[in-house]
Amino acid sequence: MSSHEQPQPFAPAKRSLGQNFLVDPNVSRKIVEALDLAPGDNVLEIGPGRGALTEHILARTPGRYVALEKDEALASELERRNPLAEVVRGDAMRFDWASLASGERWKIVGNLPYNIASPLIWDIVSRSEFSQAVFMVQLEAGQRVAAGPGGKTYGALSAFVQNFATVEFLFKVPPQVFRPQPKVTSAVLRFFLRTPRPTGEEVSRLAATLRLCFQQRRKQLGTILKSKGIPDYVGVLRALDIDQMQRPETLAPERFLSMAKLLPIDFL
Ligand code: SAM
Repeated sequence: MSSHEQPQPFAPAKRSLGQNFLVDPNVSRKIVEALDLAPGDNVLEIGPGRGALTEHILARTPGRYVALEKDEALASELERRNPLAEVVRGDAMRFDWASLASGERWKIVGNLPYNIASPLIWDIVSRSEFSQAVFMVQLEAGQRVAAGPGGKTYGALSAFVQNFATVEFLFKVPPQVFRPQPKVTSAVLRFFLRTPRPTGEEVSRLAATLRLCFQQRRKQLGTILKSKGIPDYVGVLRALDIDQMQRPETLAPERFLSMAKLLPIDFL
């Protein structure tokens, strides 16, 4: 380095960790505003990176601010710059959410790495630790999460998420506000997690039912259930007033949960 160059605190971005850092403070501010933070709210951020959202969150005096970052170097730098942040080194796909404890519900935010966004959202929306979430994801993933029945983008992810949360598609974000720039457009979504929270059994039954139905999304429900040898599927559909000829892609999210509760568990 020549004597007039500034030292660089950050290593180059790692593609393997989906590191596209937000460099537009207006977008950061809008994302944090969407969390509707009141003083004392606890906030968990997934992948804080170089801290684009951190200062906006800390300015709103949260109760606790926990930042979960997989990249050790970024975690250390974030900790050095923000003594009020509780920085946890870890993988969001393996994190034990229950360890947040404290009995209070948390708000969760993140500009998510694209490769973990959909499974992470699937995981978060059924958990009882969270009340509200704001996530930036790849536009196509955002459209899938927010889609209603009837369209091509509606699928297991949309139906699962919408059983447990009200989803709002807030705004799109162009590649130009990131460094390095991704090839794709992003979108910011907000989730209000409904109460009462689902039980573990409801979650696993729903997941199994959606897997079954969306493996053959264009077939009729009666045909799908019959092909799996599910006893009394006719009675279950009749009890729920669901037409056997209806296709999964046209069924409202809450209808899958009703079916999941009645279908015999051994077959799911
Ligand atoms: N929040 C920052 C911003 O908006 O500029 C960084 C966003 S960048 C798209 C994703 C961040 O998530 C990176 O800091 C990356 O190191 C981190 N990350 C990637 N995979 C992760 C994982 N499995 N668990 C936790 N953090 C992860």
